[in-house]
Parts: sequence; C-alpha cells; structure tokens
Amino acid sequence: MAKHKPKFIFVVGGVMSSVGKGVTSASIGRIMLAKGLSATAIKADPYINLDAGTMNPTEHGEVFVTEDKDETDQDIGNYERFLNTDILSVNYMTTGRVYDSVIRKERNLEYNGECVEVVPHIPEEIIRRIKKAQRTAKADVTIIEIGGTVGEYQNILFLEAARMMHLKNPEDVAFVLVSYLPIPARVGEMKTKPTQSAARTLNSAGISADFIIARATRPLDKKRRQKLATFCGITEQNAISAPDIDVIYKIPQILEKQKLGDKLLEQLHMRPRKTNMENWNKMVRKITSSEQELKIGVVGKYFGTGDFTLADSYISVIEAIRHASWASNRKPVLTWIDSEAYQKNPAKLKELAKFDGVIVPGGFGTRGVEGIIKAIQYVRENKIPYLGLCYGMQLAMIEIARNKAGLVNANTVEMDPDSADPIIHINPFQATNVRENRYGGTMRLGAYDCKIKPGTLAHKAYNKLTISERHRHRYEFNNKYREILEQSGVVFSGVNPEQDLVEIAEVSDHPWFVGTQFHPEFKSRPLDPHPLYLDFVKACIKHSK
Ligand code: GLN
Repeated sequence: MAKHKPKFIFVVGGVMSSVGKGVTSASIGRIMLAKGLSATAIKADPYINLDAGTMNPTEHGEVFVTEDKDETDQDIGNYERFLNTDILSVNYMTTGRVYDSVIRKERNLEYNGECVEVVPHIPEEIIRRIKKAQRTAKADVTIIEIGGTVGEYQNILFLEAARMMHLKNPEDVAFVLVSYLPIPARVGEMKTKPTQSAARTLNSAGISADFIIARATRPLDKKRRQKLATFCGITEQNAISAPDIDVIYKIPQILEKQKLGDKLLEQLHMRPRKTNMENWNKMVRKITSSEQELKIGVVGKYFGTGDFTLADSYISVIEAIRHASWASNRKPVLTWIDSEAYQKNPAKLKELAKFDGVIVPGGFGTRGVEGIIKAIQYVRENKIPYLGLCYGMQLAMIEIARNKAGLVNANTVEMDPDSADPIIHINPFQATNVRENRYGGTMRLGAYDCKIKPGTLAHKAYNKLTISERHRHRYEFNNKYREILEQSGVVFSGVNPEQDLVEIAEVSDHPWFVGTQFHPEFKSRPLDPHPLYLDFVKACIKHSK
C-alpha cells in the first residue's frame, strides 16, 4: 500500500513535440523521491501500434525494452534512469492497447449487454490502467505523461480520462503543461502567445493547467511570467522556468530551486516536505567536474540521418556511456561513423585508430553490414577496446569466423538466408514467426538469466557468476560453430542456462573485446552505472594512455 492517498500528476505538452515532457515527468518523479515519497511514471502514447517495437527508431526514437518483455517508448528509459528503478509494462499504454482491451472485454461479455462506446468506455479503460500501474508500484505520486501535444485530435481521450479523474477527486489530481516559448531571431524576444493558445486549447478539453513549465533557450523573465499568469490562468509562482541545459540530469535541481515539488504537493493537498537530493547532487557534481575527454567511436548504419535522430535512436547506449564515463571522471565524446563509408573506401578504416574505444550498437537489416564487419576486424587486429551490442556481437562472430577460422562465407541468415556457414541463425520457432509475418512483440524480449564463466573479462566486470540482462533480437549464435570459434580464440563467457544460448563472447588475445547478445544499456542508471560499460570505459582509459 502507498503510505498516502494516491496522487496523480498529468504532464501534457504544448506548442510542439520534443519539448522535454519525458525528462520533465522523470524529474518530477525524482523530486518526489527526494521528498521521501514513492513515485512512478506512466507513458500514454496516442498511437494505434500495440507497442513501439514496430515503429521506425529514426522517426520515433529508441525502442526501450522493460524487464517484463515489453517494447516501449524511450521515455520509459528516462523514467528508469531518473527514478533509479525498473518501470514495468503496466506503465506503458497506447491507444491501440486501450482499444484492444475494450474490444476483448466486449467479446467476453464483460460489459453485460451495454452499448460499448468511445466515451465513457475508452477513458474508463485508461483510468483503470493508470490505477493499476499506481497499485503495482505502490506509488504515493503517479506521474502520467500524455504523448503528443494538446490540440491534437489523437490524444483527446487521454485528456478526457484526466479530466474525469480530476472531476471525481480534484484534490488528488494536478496538471502540468510543458510548453515551448520561442525567441524568434529577428524579434529577439521570448514569445508567450503560442503557449497562451496551448493553455486555452487545454481549457477546451475541460482542463486548466496548474503549472506551466516554460521550455525555451533562455530563462523566463518577470514580464513573461506575468503574461503566462494573466493569460493562462495560473499563478505567477507556478510559471516555472526551464531553459535549455547541457546535462539533463540537472533538471530536477533546476525545478526544485523554484520549489516545484512543494508547490505540487500543496496543489495536491499534501504537506510540503524536506527535500534530500544529496545523492543526486553529488552525481551531478561529478558530471560537471569530469573534464578529460574519452573518445568513443560508434559504428553503425542509420547514421547518415544527422545528429538529431541519432541521439534519440540510441539514447540508452549514449546515456550508458555517459554514466560510466562520468563515474570514471571522464567526459565522453561520441563520434558517429556511417559504416557504408568503410564499404566504399576501406582505407578510411585507419581513422578508427584515433579512438579510445569503439562500439557497434544493435541494429537490423543488411545495409552497411559489410562495413561494420570491416571495422570490427580493424579494432580486433589493432587491439582497440571493443563493445559489441546485440548485432555488434553477432557481426563480431562473423568477422572472426571469416578472418580467423577460415569460414570465408560465414554470415548471419538475416543478411544471407542461404549462407553456407550460418554463424548466426534463427531457431525454428522464430522462423515460423517470420514465415507467417508475425513480427509484433515476437522477438526474444526482456530479461533472461546468463551464467558467466569464471576468470573471464565478463566475470571481472560483473564480479558475479549469474546475471540477468534485457534482450531484443530474433537471431542467435549457432552453437554448431562454438568449437571452431573457440579454436580461433573466442571465449564464450556468458550462456543462458535454460536454452544454452550464447549471451557473451570475448576474444582472448585482445585487451578488451566483448560482445553481448543482450543490451546492457537498458539497465544503466546515472546513480548506478552499468558494470560492463564501466569496465569498457576503464579499458578505453587504459588504451588512451
Ligand atoms: N538483427 C539482430 C537480431 O534480430 C540483432 C538485433 C539487435 O541488435 N537488437 O537478432
């Protein structure tokens, strides 16, 4: 049971997408934890997709995998990183999921002959899901981030659910509008009109914002604060300044400086509480004091699309590298390398020598793969620290099979379904999924145990013999090739005990070359950096000397 009557904070976005609702929601959660309350966060996405697994990561951002096998929105990753806890599948819903359960219930006669309608049945299902997530997390404070922007046709039923909850228990529900205030270059002045319009649009859904988080390149001044108060129906103190910042982990501090936590508690008829954010502040101090650079090259496809989409598609990898680097007093500098360049011009591979370490992150499909394999060969032969994540592990095994074990046609069946040496193959169960076009939610997903071989790099990094990590893949290492690769210097240092699947592979005559079938980055947190990333960073630092 929660210690208090459960309270709910809805976070909605105004003016445009990507204003930072996710990080704001996560930061509010962090503040509540610092006040000794339990908190959880929910994402309600307006898509018909049942999960984020079927959406293109360069458009929608990373697919974040939960412990309990769900493919969710990248904001769930933010919640985990800020709240330092696992967020489960119950905390994620899409329009598709909500409709899916209402239709299923209707088919099961659970509506007792009623006419099942969009209103109230859809908002009621949304409310049921919010309450279930609150109970599961035993949360005093539940933050619900509504995807999209107010005024969109798509998220109106989520707003209706919020309005209904507020109507029933006005003391238990608060509304935060995260809005963007542009400063047009030619005008040079921060403009509040678009936010005023967003607040009014919210009013037309029957909701008044209690707080406005003013996202802008610069801090909010007195005049703008007054305008927001007058035209958006909030008090002046409830206009919260949130200017752009170099490190997102400073945001809880910025909001707390303006007493957002206490004001929210007051709004929710709870007493203000002392905040103890010392462990968080200490972590942020460490970030600010890390000056010496660590140069990491990240090789993959997708990278022709510009920095903006990249940062979103690989957010957990980027954050995991940051956490581990900061904890090691280093400032990480990531360089994105499009592997297709190495395919066209192998002479370019030499540039990899300037990095302290190289990562190949997860990926799908065939584009750029031969270039990645060339890059892996280069870092292996030149003893540059290497971390291969999922596809990065599979392709490393292919590289070694081709160039050390003499299996020149080695491949993954994802690239070549008729490969003579399918080092990476597909199990019969997964083959059926693919044959029958059953793609959604059918990969090997979520947490699985892995047994670690004593005396290996993995053992040294984890300092444990059984670990559990999160997965998202359809293909596997083909155990038929285990022996021949071992003879070529590969150590299979982690294996799933139930299914005997390769989970970690390393190279013995190399200072640090590790590939994982899982994605350790999903479990890295700023207060608790991931042990494998920490050990990789340690190897990079050593290599840089
Ligand atoms: N494409 C590979 C597979 O499905 C790797 C997936 C990944 O890197 N997440 O097995």
